[in-house]
Amino acid sequence: MPRKKKKRQTNRKIRRNRKKLGLFLLALIILIVGLLTTILPRSSYTLKDQELVRTKTALNLYPTRSTLWSRQVPANTALKIKSYHLSYLFGQPKTFVKVIFKNQTYFAEARGLDLNHQNPINSYIADTLHYPKAKLERKDQGFQASSYQTWLQKPRGIIVHSTGNDSSSLDSEVDYMVKNYPKTGVFVHAFIDQNKVLSIADEKKAAQGAGPNANPYYIQFEMVHQHSAKDFAKQLANAAYYTAYQLKQNGLPVTMAKEDKTGTVWSHELVSTYLGGTDHTDPSAYFENSAQSFFGVSYQFADFVDLVQAYYNLLT
Ligand SMILES: [Zn+2]
Repeated sequence: MPRKKKKRQTNRKIRRNRKKLGLFLLALIILIVGLLTTILPRSSYTLKDQELVRTKTALNLYPTRSTLWSRQVPANTALKIKSYHLSYLFGQPKTFVKVIFKNQTYFAEARGLDLNHQNPINSYIADTLHYPKAKLERKDQGFQASSYQTWLQKPRGIIVHSTGNDSSSLDSEVDYMVKNYPKTGVFVHAFIDQNKVLSIADEKKAAQGAGPNANPYYIQFEMVHQHSAKDFAKQLANAAYYTAYQLKQNGLPVTMAKEDKTGTVWSHELVSTYLGGTDHTDPSAYFENSAQSFFGVSYQFADFVDLVQAYYNLLT
C-alpha cells in the first residue's frame, strides 16, 4: 500500500476513535450526573400557608435551582415562602426556599431570610437573644444501642422529652439514667439545659425512651426543667438547634408529626397519640407551664417546630 494512503487511513481511524471516545465520555458524564441526582438525599416540603418574610440583607433570587443567572433584591424586601428544599452543594447540606416575588417564583438561600415568629418567646430568642446555641458536647455512656430499623439504618426524625422533675440538674439526670439503665434499659441520645447540649449516646444508633413503636426510628433527647424566662428561652434555643442539626445531618426536612405517622419532629405526647405503645404526654405541660409563668403566653409544640425551622435555615 502506498505510504500516503496508509497515512490517510490511519488518520481517519484516529478521528473515528476520538469521536467514539468523546461519545463514550459524554455518556459516562450523563450517567454519573444522573446517578448522583438520584442517589444523593434531597428533600423538599411545601408549607401549608405561604409565609410572608423579609430579606435580612441583599439577596440573590434564582429563576431555577440550577441557573447561575440571578436578580438581586435589597434588604427588607417582602417575599412569600412557598416551600423548602434541602440540597447538597459539594457534600454540604444547604437549605433553599421557593419564594414568590412580584408574582414570579424564584429560589433563594434560606439563611438570607428573617422569619416572622408568631410566638413571643420565639421572637425573644430571635430578636433579643439573637438565636443563641450551646456547643454540642459528647460523653458516651456505653449504652447497648441497636441499629435503626429503617432503610439505610438512618433515623426518621427526632423526639422531644422533658424530665418532669422540677428540682434536678442536667448532670443529676444523666447520673440517674446511667445508674438505672441496667434495670430499666431506658436511655436517650442527649440532655439539654440552658447552657449545655450533652450527647450521651451515638445518634447513629437507636435509643430506648419512647416505647416500642418509636424507639427503632427516632433520635431522642430530654429537656431538664428551667426556672427563669431567660434560661427557658435559652434551653428552647439549644433544643431547636440540636433538632435542626440532627435533621440536617440526616437529610431530613422540618415537618411536625402528623396523624398519618409522617413528620420528622415529634413530642413524646405526639408519639403516644399517633404511634401508641406509650402514654406519656411530655413535654407539653412543661412548655405550657413555663411559658405561662415566665412570659405570660402559651407555647405549643408547633411553636417549637417553627423555632427548629429558623435554626435549620441558619445552619450551613
Ligand atoms: Zn418522654
